[in-house]
Amino acid sequence: MEDNETGFNLETPKVGIIRGVLAKDIEIVGEKVVNLRICARPYRNTYSVAQLRTIKDVIEKYGSGKVHMSPRHNLEVPEVKQKELDNALKDLYIAGLFPGGAGTSVRNIFTCPDWCSKSLRPVQEIGMMVSTNFGDKDMHNKVTISFAGCYNSCSRPHNSDIGIIAIGRVEELPGKKCPEDCLDCIKSCSFEAIEKVDGDIRINEKCIYCCKCVEACGHNKLKVTETGFKVLIGGREGSKVVFGTTYADFVNEFEVLEIVDRALSNYESKARLKPGDRKKKERLGDVANRLGLESFMT
Ligand code: SF4
Ligand code: SF4
Ligand code: SF4
Repeated sequence: MEDNETGFNLETPKVGIIRGVLAKDIEIVGEKVVNLRICARPYRNTYSVAQLRTIKDVIEKYGSGKVHMSPRHNLEVPEVKQKELDNALKDLYIAGLFPGGAGTSVRNIFTCPDWCSKSLRPVQEIGMMVSTNFGDKDMHNKVTISFAGCYNSCSRPHNSDIGIIAIGRVEELPGKKCPEDCLDCIKSCSFEAIEKVDGDIRINEKCIYCCKCVEACGHNKLKVTETGFKVLIGGREGSKVVFGTTYADFVNEFEVLEIVDRALSNYESKARLKPGDRKKKERLGDVANRLGLESFMT
């Protein structure tokens, strides 16, 4: 397809082949329609005002006036008239928007917003780096990658194929003793990781580095001495929910990139067909479980 006025070129995609054009056989009041799942590339979960205006125009011109925000922050426009699909895609492409977020590939990289007051370390830039390098890459099965700025895990890193969480190491500041009756940090810790011994605080091996105790201490006795990322591998959601297993703690942004690269390459080379399936291969977590995490990552 070529637009003579703008010189815009686009290889016309076929409905049902391009990712993000879903449910091609729906018919509404005699008109064939598709549901169009849209994402920005590199993948991200923020859209500019100009992009939102374009989406609004596409909904009004070709859709049915509705839009849905998917759990991985894709925008899904239902009931786009099939005969207008090329025009809708062209309008979207010009605004840096594409059909996507479906199929056997690396799905939309899901990150927390950096402006969240709970964030221990920014995750949007590293999410963008991962997206630029691996977003939309063809895979044996879908692969989800999520980044959380703290252990609240709003972006669901625990049940993503690769989940990354910002964590912090907490230490007690030397000096004055804690007030005798104060147990605020102990009460704030859901992991029984803090003990009080002779008026001093001891953090034990059950600590998962969430830093909630620092916020709870009103006496400035605790501080975060180091931040980094925890990397979980092998989680999944859906009908069979699995939590990922910790592969690394306190790694930095470059190490995260290296681990993601290695996990995806190993998945590519080590996956087998799903039992009883002639086409689809195992999910990343199935391969990691079958081989054991260490040997999967080697
Ligand atoms: S996981 Fe933490 S940083 Fe991210 S949105 Fe939730 S509370 Fe904020
Ligand atoms: S960082 Fe979290 S897990 Fe560790 S002691 Fe503090 S509240 Fe408990
Ligand atoms: S570290 Fe803070 S919250 Fe915990 S007992 Fe001491 S003063 Fe209280």
